[in-house]
Amino acid sequence: MFRKVLIANRGEIAVRVIRACHELGVRTVAVYSEADRGSLHVRLADEAFCIGPPPTAASYLNVPNIIGTAELLGVDAIHPGYGFLAENARFAEVVADCKMTFIGPPPQAIALMGDKAAAREQMKRAGVPVVPGSPGPVRSEAEAREAARETGYPLIIKAAAGGGGRGMRTVHGPDELPRALATAQQEAEAAFGDGRVYVEKYIEEPRHVEVQVLADRHGTVLHLGERDCSIQRRHQKLIEEAPPPRLRERTLAALARAAIRAAQVIGYTNAGTVEFLVDAHENIYFMEMNTRIQVEHPVTEMVTGIDLVKEQIRIAAGERLGYGQRDIQVRGCAIECRVNAEDPRHGFRPSAGTLTAFHPPGGPGVRVDTHCFPGYTIPPYYDSLVAKVIAWGRTRDEAIARMRRALVEFEIAGVATTIPFHLRVLDNAFFRRGEVYTNFIHRRLDPEAS
Ligand code: ADP
Repeated sequence: MFRKVLIANRGEIAVRVIRACHELGVRTVAVYSEADRGSLHVRLADEAFCIGPPPTAASYLNVPNIIGTAELLGVDAIHPGYGFLAENARFAEVVADCKMTFIGPPPQAIALMGDKAAAREQMKRAGVPVVPGSPGPVRSEAEAREAARETGYPLIIKAAAGGGGRGMRTVHGPDELPRALATAQQEAEAAFGDGRVYVEKYIEEPRHVEVQVLADRHGTVLHLGERDCSIQRRHQKLIEEAPPPRLRERTLAALARAAIRAAQVIGYTNAGTVEFLVDAHENIYFMEMNTRIQVEHPVTEMVTGIDLVKEQIRIAAGERLGYGQRDIQVRGCAIECRVNAEDPRHGFRPSAGTLTAFHPPGGPGVRVDTHCFPGYTIPPYYDSLVAKVIAWGRTRDEAIARMRRALVEFEIAGVATTIPFHLRVLDNAFFRRGEVYTNFIHRRLDPEAS
């Protein structure tokens, strides 16, 4: 096992990783920007080091400063969390070149899955069903039209280097194609420094269902079941749950099989998530693989009892998983609500400020992952996540009732949050029946908000 781990991240995920390290008896180093001096991750870590001014390019993405800090403090491994450098293959290589361990998959696996167009091709070859679309990036309008003949309309243009829903454009007919292609390319170039885009068939009213996988360095690849992340706004997840409601056993089994196959063919190790779209007929389509821990990992932890972050660290340290597929049981149901400092009454605009009151809920079956505390000021430089509330129940109804109760209990003052919005979803009759799809908010709740 490692002696000392540096966490190259901030916020709730940095706190989450520090907790896992401490349970494993591993010392921790926090890094922070000048805006995060008083943060919880800084207080909880054994050592902390400032790596630069608030903008992320100068701090949490500042590879020389992060590596320099790690070397100076004698760190033997780096956990990237999610976002920032987590899916940067070059960073993973630099960590290894500097004789430290990157707590994540091999750089080649990150690079392959980071190129979504290439990943689709590789998955297709491996027999994993993918969304019909262009065989690789489309460079010209002519190539886009060619692809459109395959997919029909509507179609979706996506950035090969995409993430976070950026560089994505839905196209309803041939007239819209030239403009959409140009904007998607520009957006992709601006966001990722890589203007390559590809074309996919637009799946109507799909569900977003993903599979959590764990793979050690000794050839064991397991899945920890599925999560439904269909409740989204502008392609950003808001509510996630495990297991997905109202899917046939057969479909769940097909998803798990496809996910394991995806991980195996690319020689994946560590924790990863294979994302699929599931259409109304329960056809499954591979969308992408996220080569890191995900925001929504706690719902899987709640139903399986497995600490995914500790498993990541154990795997990176070369340990064997030490259990098999049959040892993993999904018990009950778990739901996560992402509480963001955004005002749902005003178009979800960010609401930075100081938390004059902050009292998270507790009680049976409730978990809150947060870096916030009373008096904490939410800096305007980073994402708006305030807390993740996770509720477990023996049944989905019980989980929903607990989540409702927990959100009502949650006392936050000083900033607007998405809690009122979550309560509306939880009270929605379609949601309660498990009728969810990625356009749920538009169709069932609030066309204005979507
Ligand atoms: P990103 O990596 O930018 O988050 P994804 O490829 O994961 O992008 O897609 C994000 C969301 O966009 C999905 O969860 C789904 O709601 C929607 N989406 C993506 N591809 C399609 C498609 N082919 N048809 C319909 N919706 C899609």
